Amino acid sequence: MKPEVESGRDGATQEAQESLSSFDPSAVGEEVFARLFEAHPLPLLVSDVATRRILMVNQAFVDLYAYEREEVLAMRLDDIRPEEDIPRLIESFSTFGPGKALGGRWRHRGHCGKIFQVEIASASLVLMGREVRLAVVNDLAPRLAAEEAASSAISLLRSTLESTADGILVVDREGRIVSYNQRFVQLWRIPEEILRSADDGAAIGFVLDQLVDPNKFLHKVQELYAEPEAESLDVVEFKDGRLFERYSIPQRSEGAVLGRVWSFRDVTERRRAELALERSEHRYRQLFERNVAGLFRNTVEGRILDCNDAYARVLGFSCREDLVGANVLDFFFDVAERDEAIGELRERGQLTDRELRMRRRDGEAVWVSVAYSLVAGEMGEPEVLEGALVDISRRKNAERLMLHQAYHDSLTSLPNRMLLHDHLTQAIARVARDGSRLAVLFLDLDQFKMVNDTLGHGIGDRLLQQIARRLAQLSDVAEIVSRVGGDEFTILLSNLESVDEAVAVARRVLALIEQPTEVAGHRLYITTSIGLSFYPEDGEDAEALMTSADLAMYRAKELGRSSYQICSPTMNSRALARLALETELRGALENQELEVFYQPQLGVASGATVGFEALVRWRHPHRGLVMPDQFIGAAEESRLIIPLGDWVLREACLQMRRWDGEGLPPLRLAVNLSPCQLLRPDLVSAVAAILDETEFPPDRLDFEITEGAALQNPAQTFLALEELRRMGLKIAIDDFGVGYASLNYLRQLPVDALKVDRSFVREITTGAQGEAVVRTVLELAHSFGLHVVAEGVEHVEQLEFLKNHGCDEYQGYYAAPPLPAAEARRWIASHVVGAFGNQTR
Ligand code: C2E
Ligand code: CA
Ligand code: CA
Repeated sequence: MKPEVESGRDGATQEAQESLSSFDPSAVGEEVFARLFEAHPLPLLVSDVATRRILMVNQAFVDLYAYEREEVLAMRLDDIRPEEDIPRLIESFSTFGPGKALGGRWRHRGHCGKIFQVEIASASLVLMGREVRLAVVNDLAPRLAAEEAASSAISLLRSTLESTADGILVVDREGRIVSYNQRFVQLWRIPEEILRSADDGAAIGFVLDQLVDPNKFLHKVQELYAEPEAESLDVVEFKDGRLFERYSIPQRSEGAVLGRVWSFRDVTERRRAELALERSEHRYRQLFERNVAGLFRNTVEGRILDCNDAYARVLGFSCREDLVGANVLDFFFDVAERDEAIGELRERGQLTDRELRMRRRDGEAVWVSVAYSLVAGEMGEPEVLEGALVDISRRKNAERLMLHQAYHDSLTSLPNRMLLHDHLTQAIARVARDGSRLAVLFLDLDQFKMVNDTLGHGIGDRLLQQIARRLAQLSDVAEIVSRVGGDEFTILLSNLESVDEAVAVARRVLALIEQPTEVAGHRLYITTSIGLSFYPEDGEDAEALMTSADLAMYRAKELGRSSYQICSPTMNSRALARLALETELRGALENQELEVFYQPQLGVASGATVGFEALVRWRHPHRGLVMPDQFIGAAEESRLIIPLGDWVLREACLQMRRWDGEGLPPLRLAVNLSPCQLLRPDLVSAVAAILDETEFPPDRLDFEITEGAALQNPAQTFLALEELRRMGLKIAIDDFGVGYASLNYLRQLPVDALKVDRSFVREITTGAQGEAVVRTVLELAHSFGLHVVAEGVEHVEQLEFLKNHGCDEYQGYYAAPPLPAAEARRWIASHVVGAFGNQTR
């Protein structure tokens, strides 16, 4: 609150006073005075000094006090005062007199007791003989309100100023200190008396003492005094290590610069933290950039966000800039390897020490060990992949080299015994599954020791290297060529079709080695001995096969140099022939070298031809006509009997149908079935298909099976025979008597006939057991309702015996041997056609 002010200091009151003192009523008309009085903007009041009665008021007065004019004119001055102020009123009037001016601040009371502050300027004068007082009322309310607002604004400003963490100093244009807050005092540690003295020079001097670089600060201050409009910000560094951020702006009022506001903030802690962060970031960046490992950050899609030079170099680029932005997915060498790694990464969120290949810029593969992890993105960013990768190509190559060394012979670089053993073991497992054959060729150089002893080991080594190089040429046929000892080599052959193939390779090896070798000016002639062993014949495992081949090699040595031997003697003759036969027979089937002969079967009583037994022959291009005993066994072992049997059946049926077509009487056909044909699951359908194709009537066909065959898988055989019989075929047991089947058992089989083996028939005339056997068979067979056919009837006596004992049919040289088709046709023409009509069985 402003203390009471001297009268006359207020502009409006002064004006009013002057207008009063210079006023001469005689000079203006009454009218003018009255108008002036009434229209005056300030409330005017004329009162009687003696009685303090209100004599006159103007409109402004009425408005302010809110009384009716008549009411006012009936009042005394006391009535517009609060009760307690009346004594002061009376007192002031007592000192009041003509020519005196009276003023001051009063509390007035308006309509409804409303109290308000007024400032009064008054003058005393005599009007119409009375001493009156003319007062001008100045309502203080608007001014007080403004003062209050200003004071509250100032206090707000003050408290704001004090509450801020910044130290604030306000100076005027001349640099004198206008204001500051306590924080400023604390920060700068300036004694308050210096500040209160408002001496900026002293303050600045005190400040400068504390600074690391006082000149810089001083310079800045002077610069800013020179440029009142400038704003500036910098950091002030104290000797004691504190850091202040300094901010300075001009203080303006209605556009004019009044001074300057300085604010200081202690940022020591913050700057220290920032600095520490910067340093640590810098350290990590350096760690990242200078790391020997390739480091990277990718998006999940593979885009490289950041990487270091080491990473770029692993991939064949010179620096990181070449790679940032590229997609790492393009740099994997093997897509499958990549997808597997990514899959695992997705599943587990990280990958450690994964070894995989990346593709370098030049397209080459580089082995790397990589560690990846999926990292949550910063501030809501998507996940990224971070990781490291190291080039491990060198290690990988070393590993490969070591592996190679472990499995290879250092002198010749050929695989060694260990690798051979692995291969052989694997090959055996494979061959055991697919039923093919493999061979081991064991080589031992002849008299190699002599080369070593006479020419030295150096020459010997070089000879071995040359031999190894020659043997390596066999890689087209050999699965592996290895050196297993000083002058010993082993060749593994797999997927062999025949023994011949292995023998051919052995011969090729002999020829290869026999070629003279030039070593250091010496022309060397060397030979080798080779032993061959075969799986499965000569051993079940790698060791056994090697031993067998080794043994065979020693036998080859005994037989003389530069030769080969197959492991077992039987292999040399029988098995070799069998294997060769197998191959040949396969060719025979394809080349149509097989032929069917037909042996007539005749009724014993009638002597009439009832049919033919089809018997296969092989018309060999060199060996002439080969009999079935020579090749049926091999065909059965190699299962070639299946296509061969089909061929015979088809061929015989077609032949029979051709004769039918020629109008010859329809005869029966007997065809032999081997055990393995009988065990064939699709036998019935295969037979049906051939009969269908050749249009041969099933009820004219007999199948001959042996006892052994019938016993091999009784249940299946039983079903197959039943089936065939249902189709109309008849079944005969061939070579009956030589097997083990009891007649009792045979009774249960679905068969129609027995063929008594020729060994018994032969004995009919020699007086041996034959006769008894044949007789018993005939009796029993007939009692079971079976038909009996005798085989190998060569003499009339035999036929007589059979006739006497009721044998049904016979075949044999006595009637006719197996005949080629053309002759068989002639047989029909001469023996059957005439007798046509009594062809029943
Ligand atoms: P097998 O079924 O017992 O055939 C009868 C054999 O006895 C035939 O020999 C035949 O030439 C011979 N033979 C015929 N009459 C006489 C004779 O009076 N005295 C003598 N000592 N022998 C006689 P082959 O043709 O050499 O056939 C031998 C075996 O080959 C046959 O014995 C048969 O088991 C088999 N075979 C022949 N062709 C086939 C065929 O197409 N399929 C099948 N699975 N086996 C066949
Ligand atoms: Ca037969
Ligand atoms: Ca027979």
